[in-house]
Amino acid sequence: MQAARKALETGKWATMAASRRAKIIYKIAQLIAERAGEIALLEVRDNGKTIGTAKGELSAIVDTFEFYAGAATKNYGSTLPAPVPNYIAHTLLEPVGVVGAIVAWNFPLLLASWKVAPALAAGCTIVLKPATATPLTALELGKIALEAGVPEGVLNVVTGPGSELGQAMVEHPAIDKIAFTGSTATGRRIAATAAQTLKRVTLELGGKSPSLVFADADLEAAVNGALYGIFYNAGQTCEARSRVLVQDSIYDEFVARFGERAQKLRVGDPEDAQTQIGAITLEEQLEKIAADCRAGEKEGAKRLFGGTRVAGDGHDRGLFWNVTAFEADPKHRIAREEIFGPVVVFLKFKTESEAIEIANDSEYGLAASIWSKDISRVNRVARALRTGTVAINTPYAVFPGVPFGGYKRSGYGRELGFETMRLYSETKSVITYVGEKPINPFGV
Ligand code: NAD
Repeated sequence: MQAARKALETGKWATMAASRRAKIIYKIAQLIAERAGEIALLEVRDNGKTIGTAKGELSAIVDTFEFYAGAATKNYGSTLPAPVPNYIAHTLLEPVGVVGAIVAWNFPLLLASWKVAPALAAGCTIVLKPATATPLTALELGKIALEAGVPEGVLNVVTGPGSELGQAMVEHPAIDKIAFTGSTATGRRIAATAAQTLKRVTLELGGKSPSLVFADADLEAAVNGALYGIFYNAGQTCEARSRVLVQDSIYDEFVARFGERAQKLRVGDPEDAQTQIGAITLEEQLEKIAADCRAGEKEGAKRLFGGTRVAGDGHDRGLFWNVTAFEADPKHRIAREEIFGPVVVFLKFKTESEAIEIANDSEYGLAASIWSKDISRVNRVARALRTGTVAINTPYAVFPGVPFGGYKRSGYGRELGFETMRLYSETKSVITYVGEKPINPFGV
């Protein structure tokens, strides 16, 4: 933290020509692209995700650094209308200072890139803390940044437990802003602690995001999209579409097709390119998934398939969970609380307004998907949903350049957008008197 402070105060990074900073950030993207294969494998071995997923992330990480390399030269202030005659005013966007970036274990390098790239582009210095269990790719990023020409002290990577090291970062007076991705419980605690030093805070937290499937949807596309929406990354995804709301007239057919497809998903060895569902990253996460499934059955939700650990064929050596589905009532806890695993909950609705009501009846508001061919409906529903992202007829909804973040208890602030640059900047207003006569307010 002191290294980051010192690097900030020398001003070497922030006052460097923005075009030069942009080239260095672009170089980071190039170096990551060159080593994408080996970094993806490192992520797989650290995290347990599939190699296919990790390769996709590496490509998104390269895009993220490229996007913010471009943003570095465009963090414009404004020229303001004269507030009174003989005055001109403009604003400067200056780096917010030292950024403490703290991230979760589900997308270790991807989540780090969402913070490091805009922070570097805005001229900030950074202390990056990856999750305790998945530190390896963040350390690689630190090395790559130095190689790309980022001055020493600008990007510092520290590893260790959140309760001690993360907590110390949030308390530390040398840090000006905390950019956090993790659970809502930790986010709440971080916001409270950061208030003591009035740090700026952005929070990307949990979710219980819905897919809304209307009877007029392309059923085939909706089944495949909803399947990917929950089982991608073994469901360990903040924006996982863990609630699937289906209109009553197509409910039985949809659930049957979904179940049939789900059985075909290959769960197992993350390094095998054919595998679609990799491991659960942490033993305690596997235990949480098991406990949530047991609690779901106990409260009366109907288990349709899965709900058990994968056994046999060498699976016992790893942390694998069978893809799981429940049919539930919106009041069931299993339909309300984040599980963070390959567990989907089906809910039935009759009308559009009921679908919106169920979808919005959540403390979270990260993302939602709508499946329908009716252009008026999708636009009507997109406006009614209280979520940071709405994906229409597509399972893909996260791209560099498109703001990503939550409503309600899914957090505040946005990542990935150009507007994110503002969250790593302070606005300075510069007011100049240009009149010929000197001002003498007291007339003395
Ligand atoms: P977590 O909150 O337990 O940990 C996240 C990070 O915070 C880790 O680096 C951890 O070491 C650190 N940490 C823990 N206690 C801390 C403290 N007191 N002070 C400072 N740092 C502390 O979350 P997790 O279990 O690693 O990740 C899963 C959660 O992250 C899920 O809720 C998921 O939805 C959320 N998530 C959100 C997004 C998003 O963009 N919205 C993306 C991925 C994951």
